This record gives sequence, C-alpha cells and structure tokens, in this order.
Amino acid sequence: MKKLFQNNKELSLIGKWIHCENIKPLLLLHDKSYQINQIGKSFLNKPIYHIILGNGPIKILIWTQMHGNEATATKVVFDLLNVFKNPNSPQKVKAILKFCTIKIIPILNPDGALAYTRVNAQQIDLNRDATTLMAPESKLLRHTLNEFQPDFCFNLHDQRNIYSVAQTKEPASISFLSPATEPSRKLTAERLKSMAIISSMFQAVKSDIPKNVSRYNDEFYPNATGDNFQKDGFCTILIEAGHFKDDYNREKVRYYYFKSLLTGLLSISTNTFATIDIYKDIPENDTNYLDIIINNVLLDSKNVSIGILYIEELKDNQLIRIPTIEKIGDLSTYGANTFIDAKNIVIDSENNLNSLFKFIN
Ligand SMILES: [Zn+2]
Repeated sequence: MKKLFQNNKELSLIGKWIHCENIKPLLLLHDKSYQINQIGKSFLNKPIYHIILGNGPIKILIWTQMHGNEATATKVVFDLLNVFKNPNSPQKVKAILKFCTIKIIPILNPDGALAYTRVNAQQIDLNRDATTLMAPESKLLRHTLNEFQPDFCFNLHDQRNIYSVAQTKEPASISFLSPATEPSRKLTAERLKSMAIISSMFQAVKSDIPKNVSRYNDEFYPNATGDNFQKDGFCTILIEAGHFKDDYNREKVRYYYFKSLLTGLLSISTNTFATIDIYKDIPENDTNYLDIIINNVLLDSKNVSIGILYIEELKDNQLIRIPTIEKIGDLSTYGANTFIDAKNIVIDSENNLNSLFKFIN
C-alpha cells in the first residue's frame, strides 16, 4: 500500500495549512472524472463542495476539516482521488467504486481553514453544534446526511501533539473512535459495525506503527457530530491524525491515515471485518506527550524539567510555531519529540524562564 500512496500522493497539498484556494485547482482537475458541485456556503460565503465517486449501492459520507486547522484528512482524500482514477491501481481498490457511492465534503469549514482556527467564523466549534445547528456549515452537513442517507460516515480530524498512547511515552499518531450514542455507551448495531471497521483499520496500521495507534475514550458528548449521527442510526467512524516523531507537517502520518481510510473502504466494500474484540483491546489516548522537554534546569536551586508545547499561528501568510512553557517539574514520565539537556543552567525565578528558549532553534 506504501507504493500506491507514493505513486498517487497529491503533491500540491503539503503541510498543515490547507484551505479552499489550495483545493480549487484540484477540483477543476478532477471535474472530468468525478461529479463535483458546490453544495453551499460558509458563514463568510466561501464555497463548500461535494465530490461524488462511484455508483454502488453502499453509501459512504466523508467530510474533512470541520475543524479548520486539521488538514491531514483533506490531503488524504485528494490522494485517494488520484488512486481511484489511476489506471494502474489494483482491481480490488477500483472495485470499491463498483460497490460504493462515496460522497466527500472536503473542507467543511473553509473560513476556519483559511484563518487556521478550529472554530468557524462565528467562533462555533462545528463538532459541538450537532443539535443546535447554529452554524451554516453544521446545517449543510446535517442536510447532506438527511438527503444522502449514508450507510457509513467518516468524521475525519487531527489531534494535538499532547496525545499519547495510554501512559506510554509514545505519541498517538493515529486514533480511532466509535462514538457512543448515550451516556451508558450501549453497544448499538451501528456502534458494533463501526467498531468492526475500526478493528480492520487498526490491524492494518498497527503492522507499521505498533506503538502509535490508540482510540478515544467513548464518553458520550450530547452535542457532538459523530455521537448524534450514530444515535440517529448512521454508522460513524472517527479518525484522528496525531503527531509522529519529527513529523511537524503531518506528512509521515499522512500515509498511515491513507492506509487507515483505504482499509476502512476496502473492508466496507468487500463486507469483511475484523472481530470487535480487537477494538476493545486498542489502548486509550492519554495526554502524556510534549514537543520539547528541557532537562536539568536549576530553578530556585531545584533540578526540574521544563515541558514545551508549540502554539501554531499564521504570520505573514506562513504558519509559524511558537514555543510556550506548558509544564515545570518532574517530567520523567512524559514523552517528547525532542529532549534537551540544559546542563544545570541556573534560573533564578520563573521570570527568567524565557532564557531557556535559546536552547530551542
Ligand atoms: Zn477535530
């Protein structure tokens, strides 16, 4: 599958800041191969599109970037568009479009994508707007769901670098969730189906990155999109791209995400699923990871470690990472992308902590 990815990777979409202007030329390019239409507008009147692939009886709805600053899945769906129209792609992959009709909404939140924010232009988190439908983007997604009546939904996200696989020091590079439909987390028919699909996807990526795949705790969120869609009988699968060692552009994890999503589609189209016991054994997410840990800092004569997280911001049309202090103390149980030895640098008070940033290039 690695070769399939490499041969079809959409090279015009790279990095973490992906917005409508980036995908416009691709929509024109793919217009001859797939049915592409504008289906609505964002709060600030940016176009929102759907792309329809295949004509089979199984209906699959996929949306990306309901959180504007989570672009890995958008890159991956364009990789898949290249796969499906490539004459050299394997038959079993192409057969997906015989068995399924796939409707993709790339960049559901174009205003958030352009501004690189989680929320839309009204400051609404679309993934907490499933019952109130205050945002035009949430209304559009719900309308699409009601009209299309999909058999399966893929709700595609990115997660912050803080997420680890359980209490390990490993980042959660791919995380899954079969959302709950009520506080008791009852195993409905839809949940069981989505757990089975996730089990298949988990097995596929686990072979590449055995220590970096996890699942979310299935606590019920009454106003979350996936929880509500699943509650209303639409089998929903959530995938999150997370951090992978030195992968600040989410380009390495892009492949594992591609593999997960394609495995999910293959599993649905061939009606072959792994056992849900696998889902139950997937380790849960924790928040045990930092971008940088600076060890051996003498702060008020105590040896401490300083945990740094990057905050991302747009500046002069560039995405920049600003290091900020997240934790101070004994961080020996934490994992990090980078460890730095401050060699007993003396810091007199917290006010001088900024001098530590000279260690970070
Ligand atoms: Zn998200």
